[in-house]
Amino acid sequence: MTSLSTGGTIGVLGGGQLGRMLCGAAAKLGFDTSIFSPEADAPAMRVASHSMVGAYEDFDALLGWAETCEAITYEFENVPTASIAALVDAGHIVRPGAKSLEVAQDRLIEKSFLQECGIGTADFAAISQLGDIAAPLKRMGGQGLLKTRRDGYDGKGQVRVSASDSFEAAFLSLGEQPCILESLVPFACEISVLVARTLDGSTQTFDIPRNEHRDGILALSTVPSKLPFEVEFAAVEAAHKLAAALDHVGVLALECFVLEDGTVLANEFAPRVHNSGHWTVEACQISQFEQHILAVAGWPLHTSYRLSDAQMGNLIGSDVLDLENIVPRDASLTLYGKREVRSGRKMGHWVRVGASL
Ligand code: AMP
Repeated sequence: MTSLSTGGTIGVLGGGQLGRMLCGAAAKLGFDTSIFSPEADAPAMRVASHSMVGAYEDFDALLGWAETCEAITYEFENVPTASIAALVDAGHIVRPGAKSLEVAQDRLIEKSFLQECGIGTADFAAISQLGDIAAPLKRMGGQGLLKTRRDGYDGKGQVRVSASDSFEAAFLSLGEQPCILESLVPFACEISVLVARTLDGSTQTFDIPRNEHRDGILALSTVPSKLPFEVEFAAVEAAHKLAAALDHVGVLALECFVLEDGTVLANEFAPRVHNSGHWTVEACQISQFEQHILAVAGWPLHTSYRLSDAQMGNLIGSDVLDLENIVPRDASLTLYGKREVRSGRKMGHWVRVGASL
């Protein structure tokens, strides 16, 4: 069965805020949801129709849970690809497929894949040992970012290096694991493209937000980006190429740098709904979460039409303890229900819409 009937159950691997918002969208569209996550009491579990606590590597538990779902998706890109393969081998529908996950999980594979698709990126080099850093860093003008190939997010797992630094300290601080060295991009701004793609390859793209990061974590997304049409067009074209090359089903977010001269370089992509698309709930006819659910269910997409200008601000760590002073009075508030406040942890977000922007 390639498309779900109304009332069917969509399984979600991962129990964070993205899963929680996917459950809300699925419920709106008449689907039940079931969360599979190693974390008991995960934010998404408290709004899903069903949930199961289990390790992604526990295939017995995973396959048992999958029997209760008509289609499965993921909200977390570090689900082991072997777990996805086990689900697919057992005949389960998993959307997006393993390819999107596999490419997104490793920065070296990801950047190489982007370039193979004809999408520009920062200059990069594979680093397996200390001695691999000096030569490419020189080529990059003596300034670069050393990032772990796997498991980095929100600015974690990366350090800035320059020719005068001790590479040893940088490499040690990342645990001497396989890394990628990237040239430092002198970007004018950052944007992201949120594209939804169906099984038959049709797409819907949301208007492009301009993103501002603080300490490597997304702080603000604003739409429209106010960038020239040609710049936005180049970014959208890149995202479409990527989604097609991955045969992606669902929402994909391509994060890009825009240079002073308008050149667009891809930084990375998320094979899922994305933080920079949260404003679509308040400002669009259909949200990124609903588009993702439609694609996973094998249903046609709706038009990603934007009804209003919008700005989204993230509530990070202790921000959530001072909502009165941080959240604009005219904003809509979303909290993720995380029981513990931790520094750098995404706790919620606010969205302002309309002419007041
Ligand atoms: P990432 O973990 O790759 O998403 O990086 C987090 C943030 O660090 C990005 O959104 C940028 O603000 C910054 N950043 C990452 N890579 C580069 C780069 N090669 N050049 C300049 N800034 C970067």
